[in-house]
Amino acid sequence: MDLTVILGPMKSGKSLELVSLLSPLQFTDVRHRVFQSARHVRDAGVVSRSGAALATVKASSLASALDDDVDVVGIDEVHMFAMSDMAVVRTLLERGTRVVAAGIDLDHRGELFAPVRALLELGPASVTYRRAVCDVCRGFSAVYTQVLEHGEPMLRELAPSTALPDDGTYTYEARCRTCVVLPATTRVPRQLAS
Ligand SMILES: [Zn+2]
Repeated sequence: MDLTVILGPMKSGKSLELVSLLSPLQFTDVRHRVFQSARHVRDAGVVSRSGAALATVKASSLASALDDDVDVVGIDEVHMFAMSDMAVVRTLLERGTRVVAAGIDLDHRGELFAPVRALLELGPASVTYRRAVCDVCRGFSAVYTQVLEHGEPMLRELAPSTALPDDGTYTYEARCRTCVVLPATTRVPRQLAS
């Protein structure tokens, strides 16, 4: 498994899967490092909702991964990294480094995050899509992350890597295809949906 990718909306257990894949390495001789975006402010280290933890390096870019002589590189919240970081992933793979990346695949408009698209274009050996419980209908079928601004769906386009303030203005919900609100232009045309 040279490149393993774990994708899904918020609250879909991506971090739990990353922790379960990588935490055994701390008891082995396998040299490994787990990166987390410095933009991720929720906690230090990858802590899944189950409470399991993984030691991480907070970084604004993955460039330092090229300086390390490690066998395995983990990346949490990979959608928060830049396109240049996906070039780093390519170099790591070419070197024979195993990479395990987890993150949100679809943005608040239901479109692939550009770094996630770049990751998929590297031809992963394994892609796992996880789902969450929809925060509206409680069905276990949420694939989207709805961003709410003062409680209303926020649909305007954001520049890549825009960090939304964590001051309560914005809240986040996992939503299924029925409950999500997307821009009209990104809806699947009716003739394709049948
Ligand atoms: Zn729903």
